[in-house]
Amino acid sequence: MDYKAILAFLNDGIELVLGYINSPSKRTYYLYLLSSLLLTLYVYVRTKRKESFVSFVLNRKVWLSRSACIDYGLIAFNSFFKLLLIAPFLLFGLKLAFNTNDFLLAQFGYASFSLSTTETLVLYTISLSILNDFMTYIVHWLYHKVPLLWEFHKIHHSATTMNPFTQYRLHPIELLINNMKGILVFGITTGVFDYLSEHQISKWTYLGVNVFSFIFYSWGANLRHSHVKLKYFNFLEYIFISPVQHQVHHSDNPEHYDKNLGSRLAIWDWLFGTLVRSRQVENVTFGLGQKDNKNYSSFMKNLWMPFQNIFKLFTKK
Ligand SMILES: [Zn+2]
Ligand SMILES: [Zn+2]
Repeated sequence: MDYKAILAFLNDGIELVLGYINSPSKRTYYLYLLSSLLLTLYVYVRTKRKESFVSFVLNRKVWLSRSACIDYGLIAFNSFFKLLLIAPFLLFGLKLAFNTNDFLLAQFGYASFSLSTTETLVLYTISLSILNDFMTYIVHWLYHKVPLLWEFHKIHHSATTMNPFTQYRLHPIELLINNMKGILVFGITTGVFDYLSEHQISKWTYLGVNVFSFIFYSWGANLRHSHVKLKYFNFLEYIFISPVQHQVHHSDNPEHYDKNLGSRLAIWDWLFGTLVRSRQVENVTFGLGQKDNKNYSSFMKNLWMPFQNIFKLFTKK
């Protein structure tokens, strides 16, 4: 690698880090943060807090805590880690879509009908969004139930304070698994719809999926990792996960372990008995509990601890 290649690598990495704030595909895009600020104002007024709005939002204990600094460190580290993944993953996704389409053609010949452009856009958007959400639930469930996977997912739960960037506090191995899940769902769904619509799938079709994300991100998705207790109407919390419901997911109270595993939709939690609604819970403390929090009190510990614990898992009698 010559110095130009190193510079280009650094440049790409920094662009990815900045992308967390200036790319609409990220939940922490500045416009979504702004819309979350408005919802925070709503919560602030409703809960009649004594401190000023500014100190409520810019709470040092939230944004500059040791835990928050680990979040920022992991975001920077993962941005560079991702550079190694993006190109091969994208290629794999496209190849998977192509192969799925090929497989269907070989099995069933040409489809006897073809979806119109509008049907393709609407059905593809809905299918991909719901399937992605369901697979995210399943994978999240596995992270909590399979001891080996839990060791990696623990890094997300070791946060003792939460701000919107905690969303991206992930161990690189979890990042890898999540990307693989996303690419599998994308590849297979795209292949199926490409087959059913006689190759009408283009990057424009994907725009519909982005509209879904846009709606979700602008409705306070950033407050899920925060100290702002935004609840939804009780009935709505059976369908969509509210910020408080995800905060309950981060609770160190054993009663709340493995609850509210859903990403956007709460229906999976409702169906599989892992749902907790805001009104069922009083206060929550974030983290793994007093005993375990200290094992994750630095950036390096968060990176290293999973491997150490997995080694212990395999060597204990
Ligand atoms: Zn979790
Ligand atoms: Zn979380």
